[in-house]
Amino acid sequence: MALSKKRVYEVARELGVPTKELIEALAEMGMPGLKAVNTVEEEEAEVIRELLLEHRGRREGTPSQEAVQGPPQAGQPRPPVVAVLGHIDHGKTTLLDTIRKTHVTQQEAGGITQSIGAYQAEIDGRLITFIDTPGHKAFTSMRARGAQVTDIAVLVVAADDGVMAQTLEALDHIKAAGVPMIVAINKIDKPEANPDRVKQELAQLGYTPDDWGGDTIMVPVSALTGQGVQDLLEMILLVAEMEDIRGDPKGELEAIVIESHLDPARGPTATVIVKNGTLRERDMVVVGTTWGRIRALVDHQGRRIKEAGPGTPVQLLGLEDVPPAGERLQLVKKPGQAKAMVEERRREALDARRVARPLMTFEDLLEAAEKKRLAVVLKAESVGALDAARLELGTIETEGVDLEVLHAGVGPITESDVLLVASVQEAQPLVVGFGVKVDPKARRAADERGIPVRTYDIIYDLTEDIQRAMRRLLGPEFVEVKVGEAEVLKTFDIDGVGRVAGCVVRSGRVIRGARVKVLRLGEEVFAGEIGSLKRFAQDVREVQSGRECGIRIRDWDDVQVGDVLEVYTLEEIQV
Ligand code: GDP
Repeated sequence: MALSKKRVYEVARELGVPTKELIEALAEMGMPGLKAVNTVEEEEAEVIRELLLEHRGRREGTPSQEAVQGPPQAGQPRPPVVAVLGHIDHGKTTLLDTIRKTHVTQQEAGGITQSIGAYQAEIDGRLITFIDTPGHKAFTSMRARGAQVTDIAVLVVAADDGVMAQTLEALDHIKAAGVPMIVAINKIDKPEANPDRVKQELAQLGYTPDDWGGDTIMVPVSALTGQGVQDLLEMILLVAEMEDIRGDPKGELEAIVIESHLDPARGPTATVIVKNGTLRERDMVVVGTTWGRIRALVDHQGRRIKEAGPGTPVQLLGLEDVPPAGERLQLVKKPGQAKAMVEERRREALDARRVARPLMTFEDLLEAAEKKRLAVVLKAESVGALDAARLELGTIETEGVDLEVLHAGVGPITESDVLLVASVQEAQPLVVGFGVKVDPKARRAADERGIPVRTYDIIYDLTEDIQRAMRRLLGPEFVEVKVGEAEVLKTFDIDGVGRVAGCVVRSGRVIRGARVKVLRLGEEVFAGEIGSLKRFAQDVREVQSGRECGIRIRDWDDVQVGDVLEVYTLEEIQV
């Protein structure tokens, strides 16, 4: 007769060891896969304890107190924050609803339950925080603001449909985020369900199921009937323990907005997830370009609470304006300080827009980049075109620069493609399409963030541009080429403009915006740029040899009669 089974984290707790270590030790001792050790027969626990001590003894000599207990860690385990991703209609919403119905303790009658964008499920006294908005767009739009809310991603794949386009997208988004993943193979109640086919497809993509000896955890479930959902939740808790997800209620506040809107009755409301520290009623916070004193904190069941600690989703009221998802909260002491910070941020945002918008070209952006990594999303019109483009990209190599294809898919360039490249730190982002259109929302998102998006009809143009982009990341090499010389005949000091030199061009030509070196008695006294160039009070782009012109050197008012101005352009050396 089968003995009653224990969860591996229960055993770990009894043994006083971290779950992670227990699982690793068991794996080393020949117990394969994470799932294989998710449950342990009652009688095995004692054997495991002995084995574990022996195992440690072999590795480290006599186990010390610390070796058994693990080193002291800051904070304490907190509920993991989980996002649900996957292809449309594969059952993300149904799964979130089922978990909500079965694992959120019902509140007393009369209360109003309303969704705040996240909820907490309870499993044997332990909590998991679920983000209620499924899909990779929400997941990545937060990351594009530099905030990592999610600790664990659940990828839903319908067993009757298998891996589809958005499954592939979601996989790439999860990979780019670097968060651990659990696959929920859904709809196993359906007669045509084929979980093995899903496993096969995922294995082919490099995600080998744990029960096939790989390290991707896959749990068969039915979001509709609830079958397997408990296993999925336990697996999430297990991964949370493995990852040692912690938060310190007394630590520095880290709280990220996941949802916000303007409530007609209550004003701006925002749901945040506290990852570290504690948020309290009456706290004064700055969020993005708005601020406020927290008037009320409301939990996921509509109850007023006084404070929210690590892992808790909470809706807050009292902000001046609606902050965008992905913004972080910052605690401040005084309204004056909050207002000053907000003003400064608004100014910065405005400046950034002014500078980045009209002037930036694809070339400028790439030149401005100092990163030696090109992070690319590639979209193509068909599988054939995609394969061809991918093959071509695979042949590109530039020493010193990494080309990383974050995602390659079929279809138009979408907002989530832009957000994906935007979420990657320390890399030059680039979105390219081969024979596809750019969704207007994607265009807007790219413009806002200054991300280059390009489409091509000829594969050769695409690869050439990427090659060029990679070379530019190495830093372009320029040489100065002298193109002309002018002599200063007169100078004029003009109010509000500065000193203008009346010149004659002795040789070559003078070009607006070109580099200029000022020679006085044969010695260079200044090097700068030609700010404006006029002929008979008209702005001109260039002036040829033999002609007279007015030259204003940018930010320099010491030009004198008799000075010789040497004019240079920068020419890039093709590498
Ligand atoms: P989403 O687009 O991924 O959020 O998918 P939904 O949760 O809206 O589900 C799409 C459809 O699949 C709905 O008609 C659901 O009732 C159905 N569905 C979801 N999960 C299951 C399941 O486990 N079994 C069956 N038979 N149907 C399911």
